[in-house]
Amino acid sequence: MTTTALPAPAVRRPLTVRLVDMPFASSRRPSIQLGLLQAILARRGTAARTVHLNLELAQRLGWERYEALCHARDLLLGEWLFARAAFGPDAPPPEPYLRRHAAGLAATGEDPAGLAELRETAFPALLDEWAARSEWAGVDVAGFSSIFEQNCAALGLARRLRARGVTTVFGGANFEDEMGLEYVRAVPWIDYAVIGEGDEVLPALLDRLATGADPGDLPGVASRAADGTVRFPGRAPQVATLDPLPEPDYADYFADVARLRPPATVRGQPIGLPFESARGCWWGAKHHCTFCGLNALGMAFRSKSPERALAGLDELAERHGTYTFLSVDNILDQRYVEGVFAPLARQRKDYTFFFEVKSTLTAAQLRTLSRGGARILQPGIESLSTPLLRIMRKGATALQNVRFLKWGRYHQLVVTWNLLTGFPGERVEDYATQLRTIGLIGHLCPPGYVGRIRLDRFSPNFTELEELGFTRLGPLAAYGDVYPDRFDLAAIAYTFDYSAPRTLQDEAYEPLRRAVEDWQAAWAPGELPPLLAFRRGAGRLTVTDTRPGFDRVTTWGETEARVYEAITPTARTAAAVRRDLGDGVPAEEILADFAAAGLALEEDGQYLGLALPANPNW
Ligand code: SF4
Repeated sequence: MTTTALPAPAVRRPLTVRLVDMPFASSRRPSIQLGLLQAILARRGTAARTVHLNLELAQRLGWERYEALCHARDLLLGEWLFARAAFGPDAPPPEPYLRRHAAGLAATGEDPAGLAELRETAFPALLDEWAARSEWAGVDVAGFSSIFEQNCAALGLARRLRARGVTTVFGGANFEDEMGLEYVRAVPWIDYAVIGEGDEVLPALLDRLATGADPGDLPGVASRAADGTVRFPGRAPQVATLDPLPEPDYADYFADVARLRPPATVRGQPIGLPFESARGCWWGAKHHCTFCGLNALGMAFRSKSPERALAGLDELAERHGTYTFLSVDNILDQRYVEGVFAPLARQRKDYTFFFEVKSTLTAAQLRTLSRGGARILQPGIESLSTPLLRIMRKGATALQNVRFLKWGRYHQLVVTWNLLTGFPGERVEDYATQLRTIGLIGHLCPPGYVGRIRLDRFSPNFTELEELGFTRLGPLAAYGDVYPDRFDLAAIAYTFDYSAPRTLQDEAYEPLRRAVEDWQAAWAPGELPPLLAFRRGAGRLTVTDTRPGFDRVTTWGETEARVYEAITPTARTAAAVRRDLGDGVPAEEILADFAAAGLALEEDGQYLGLALPANPNW
């Protein structure tokens, strides 16, 4: 008989874990990634704490200045500022970046010499100071979730903590797919990277570390083998259902806010609570918008049940005494209109929401959202040209986008959106049409930005590059100003330079850009934006119009009034209007008159009334 020696039972010891929110994460909200992981770990018996060094830097730099730096993402400024602190003498010199981005940096209002001083001297010293704090004594694991421009600050602190014997774990959107693998390969002080969703992988990784077991074969964990190669056994399955997840724990954020006392608003923004009710995108799972690099490899849509979402809101509101919620969902679950917002309206809850939504929401749906507390909506409008929307697989028409803007204003919603240009196959007339439309909708909320699309990793424009008309030229030049030579920039970059031969020259977009500038100026704070509204009385409809170049007041008779009401909720054809109002109604002529008067927008025989009802009962 032979006996086999059994391995000694693993001894589990409690780990001391710190989760770290690094600059340049906004100071206006806690990290939902870290808050959620902290809550998940607490359920599993690991009491982690979250440290907010983003807040500390904001206090030192000044809250307004810090927040402005957080938003200079196109320049990779936040990464560049911490490059010396992260990579020491290996970091590229500062001058090429300052020269290359002189115009962009000037727009931030920052002095280049001051930025160079932060990068070369102040921030390395700051990270030394942070890493020397006694609070790291006894810490086993430091976890960094890196999104947007948190990479270099996080790498810089991790390097110093690693030198003190702390195990470092990275995750977050910056570590998706080959980006994460390359960071593990090129950064010796990263011990582990969680690639993909961390909800189940991080606790499993910490379990292995607590028992001294090798986590190298854990799905979702990248690590370095003894020979220096990167081990990655593949992605872990995504979380199948979101209902069982806990609500994020934001207590440490609010404790730090109480200690550091930021102003009530910074750049006009109050503190808001990030709130997750869905992952992935139900539209993108069917028709991935060509420019969209969100969701990496996990577009499959999963959402909490409406009941669970409502319970989560109440739990967060009660725990943190807040009313302001910022949804991090890529797209609103359509069930929530009736399942979440209608109950919130009935309960007369005073929560307010930011949500990303689909621009095809109807007037009735927007009314319910508004009554339930929606205040800022981001509908992904992207264009006012149906052919361009088709090229980008947006699943919406120009008329639907204008309809959204119209009902958004009616319900006093802030609508945030962009006008994108530069789609292979685009034509001059696609922009001429948009200019004409803009001339009619100055009374609706303008876009915040107009410009060429970016070529982002994971987007169809990136993965189906040539088929969709792009040629990749390489990572944005700024990556080379941030990362040392040993990095494969093509593997870590998220945004790429490109050429797209079948697009128009930049000059072709100039009229659009100028029209948007005028539009934005009319809506600037302190201005009274134009108004286009109608009142309905017995036998008549009166339109009041303060758009530049239009008649101030026009009055229409009963038949015209009924036709206008028919095209107010949504766009209709003349045939559809006649079906509703009777064959005797000369719908074609009346609709053509409304279009000629600039009171309706026509596309492919469909007419949408542009005037907002003055009546509040629509
Ligand atoms: S742009 Fe929005 S709607 Fe389109 S795939 Fe991305 S997340 Fe979904």
